[in-house]
Amino acid sequence: MNNIYHFVDGKEFKGTSQRTSDVYNPATGEVTAKVYLASKKDLDEVIQNSLKASVGWANTPALQRARILFKFKELIEKNADELTKLIVSEHGKVYNDAQGSLTRGLEVVEFACGIPHLLKGEFTENVGKEVDSWSMRQPLGVCAGITPFNFPAMVPMWMFPISIACGNSFILKPSEKDPSCPLLLAKLFKEAGLPDGVFNVVNGDKEVVDGLLESKGVSAISFVGSTPIAKYIYENAAKNEKRVQALGGAKNHCVVMPDSDLDQAVNGLMGAAYGSAGERCMAQSVAVAVGNVGDQLVSKLKTQVEKLKVGPGMDNNSEMGPLVTKQHLEKVRGYVDIGEKEGAKLVVDGRNIKLQGYENGFYIGGCLFDHVTEDMTIYKEEIFGPVLSVVRVKDFDSAVKLINNHEYGNGVSIYTRDGDSARTFASKIQVGMVGVNIPIPVPMAFHSFGGWKRSLFGDQHMHGMEGVRFYTKLKTITSRWPSGLRTDPEFIMPTMK
Ligand code: NAD
Repeated sequence: MNNIYHFVDGKEFKGTSQRTSDVYNPATGEVTAKVYLASKKDLDEVIQNSLKASVGWANTPALQRARILFKFKELIEKNADELTKLIVSEHGKVYNDAQGSLTRGLEVVEFACGIPHLLKGEFTENVGKEVDSWSMRQPLGVCAGITPFNFPAMVPMWMFPISIACGNSFILKPSEKDPSCPLLLAKLFKEAGLPDGVFNVVNGDKEVVDGLLESKGVSAISFVGSTPIAKYIYENAAKNEKRVQALGGAKNHCVVMPDSDLDQAVNGLMGAAYGSAGERCMAQSVAVAVGNVGDQLVSKLKTQVEKLKVGPGMDNNSEMGPLVTKQHLEKVRGYVDIGEKEGAKLVVDGRNIKLQGYENGFYIGGCLFDHVTEDMTIYKEEIFGPVLSVVRVKDFDSAVKLINNHEYGNGVSIYTRDGDSARTFASKIQVGMVGVNIPIPVPMAFHSFGGWKRSLFGDQHMHGMEGVRFYTKLKTITSRWPSGLRTDPEFIMPTMK
């Protein structure tokens, strides 16, 4: 049995807590490791360490910080296979998908390599007579990230490369379900030349999260996870006077217009609904069939869902791996039961799938519901599994209204050949990330990721320039050098005459 601890001040840190949580291989259902859950006392030591490290790091020129990031990027590429296998072994998703998610994280490191340019301020000569003004962005100190199980590399990498590039030290509290990949990333960052204490990984649960929220030593919290916890993080970080961005859950819709290329839409939906077994915050879990497109759409989807190849993530033939834990599998199965009870038509039932040799793995086949309505639980709640609901609406306006009424607003897409529908949709839809004939519109690293409504609490999205702004404070300097010009005391607001 493997024991997983923490990575603090450039080395493994065991801490004092003896509490542990089981880590599973979802493909086989076996417990493969025990991860130690840090105590508040352990965390205090880490925060003190991070505070110390943040001083020297903030004073390191951005160019030197960028050089370490370049080296880190090389090391991620060199170790990509090992990192990917760690994701597969603890999360369960298929190898190629895990590899893709690592690449999306790597792209944030690439973006952060440009930090000398990204931190450049603005300068105005003569804002007043012989008065100059300029602005600059300075680091916050110690920032922390709390991340979900579904992207153990990519989501932490939305945060820490930019935060660290900006001159902060960073404490990552990854999901206790798949902690090994983030730990290897921390080791590689050290190997790249990052000073000890600038990037720390602390494993834990609510105790550590509360410790981060309450500590005066932590200036900013980035969170990604479910909506109830995101709201808790937002409220408590704000109460403790911290900067906070808290990304929550989702229910993403895909509108299929009668004029769309239906095969393109079906292929897009298959990947977006069933890829990563639906355990993506950008997974599309609702297909909105507009006008008369419903029967044909459901029939084409049915054929493909029935053909889905479910199997262990390391098997090259698998298109969909298992769910992350037995508990989550039961939750997803439970939603399918509820859908049937509430009167939706279960067109494909993946609940009873059994895989030879992997009888204890956490597998479920693809599920497809038709005639789902707005009042049903399976429509309202995030299932986070391979369950696609088809809702039929009469026209475009009804589709927009349906989506805008939903409590979540993470991602959405529309399949159409009509530019007018596409443009109106992009303009009117109350969702943060919109795809036009693109199933999963995840913004690239140099744009920013974030939803609307109850999918994001806080003002700033993640990575891109939003990330740089989140992890820095703006300072504006106004200066005059006395070169003979002297003024009398002034008691009114200075203005230009
Ligand atoms: P989760 O909310 O259960 O856990 C997220 C993090 O919070 C973990 O590190 C966990 O240890 C911690 N946590 C859990 N319960 C806590 C509590 N009571 N107090 C304090 N901390 C707690 O989420 P998850 O199951 O790991 O991930 C799936 C969820 O994340 C889904 O809802 C998904 O939509 C969401 N997600 C959102 C995005 C996005 O960008 N909006 C991206 C990925 C995942």
